[in-house]
Amino acid sequence: MPARILDGAAVARAIRAEVAAGVSELKSRIGTTPRLAAVLVGDDPASQVYVRTKIAACGEAGIRSDEVRLPASATQDEVQGCVRRLNEERDVDGILVQLPLPGGLDRVAIVLALDPEKDVDGLHPLNAGRLLMKLDAMVPCTPAGIIDLLDRSGLPIAGRHAVVVGRSEIVGRPLSIMMSQRDATVTVCHSKTPDLASFTRQADILIAAVGRPAFIRRDHIRPGAIVVDVGVNRLDDARAAASIFGEDSPRPRQVRERGYTLVGDVHPREAAERAGWLTPVPGGVGPLTVACLLRNTLRAALRRRTPQSR
Ligand code: NAP
Repeated sequence: MPARILDGAAVARAIRAEVAAGVSELKSRIGTTPRLAAVLVGDDPASQVYVRTKIAACGEAGIRSDEVRLPASATQDEVQGCVRRLNEERDVDGILVQLPLPGGLDRVAIVLALDPEKDVDGLHPLNAGRLLMKLDAMVPCTPAGIIDLLDRSGLPIAGRHAVVVGRSEIVGRPLSIMMSQRDATVTVCHSKTPDLASFTRQADILIAAVGRPAFIRRDHIRPGAIVVDVGVNRLDDARAAASIFGEDSPRPRQVRERGYTLVGDVHPREAAERAGWLTPVPGGVGPLTVACLLRNTLRAALRRRTPQSR
């Protein structure tokens, strides 16, 4: 039986509806709505799409948002100066700095410059530390969305063996902590893990956050496993798209017409034959990340503007 689809888009819609209700409740209480500033440095096409998507989603939820553009030539001081100005702007509740940054910029220094209270991506060490200590914290959006997806799909986490492939600060590492706090037994794999498949095949819940197109193949997956594909990779080769998605799929045509198609870190056809549940790409984890960003922005606004909610 082919894997059932884990419908990230549907769960994301539910979260966004909750956020919209929270925003209108905040407005009726204090007369204003949350405000997010999205900082985009340079002109990476994928980052531009992500920021546009986040700004549009804010609008639908009633959150005010600004796109703050800096040229690819912006210096470290200019980017940090921009972050500091936004920190000081009383009417800004959340700041996100779209990653990746152009080469030559020190990402960590920019994250350190963020006001932790406005750090809606949950990357500042204070938020990362609070997450580790199980204190109320801004948690990174993609891992938070994945936990929501599993919970709201009725798939238990406690007692399961979760294998996370990838240990980045924004996805793999915080997710492994959150899964462990939810009583999963967690294995974290990375580029130096020998015989990766021997670990991933033990997973009840397999999460791929690698950044390599169709990297997780049939032999990596235990039959019936829950497979969450975090990867978003642009594929611009129609032949490669045909080989991954099949000759009959619309994807090779999409590459020819649009110049690219999106593929996850999991081989979609092989995983569909082997897994019990699978997130699609697009329409799986991506919409959840955006929904959780809106939720974090609302939370930041509540904490800043209604101190009694702390
Ligand atoms: P990243 O910072 O590049 O981290 C990739 C991780 O994968 C690293 O920990 C790396 O190991 C590991 N890795 C690389 N090659 C490997 C291999 N051959 N075997 C096992 N592990 C390997 O990437 P990221 O920011 O976590 O993003 C991962 C993917 O998720 C990307 O496709 C990104 O576009 C996507 N993403 C999607 C969303 C969404 O909303 N859907 C959000 C964020 C990211 P080392 O630590 O040893 O280098």
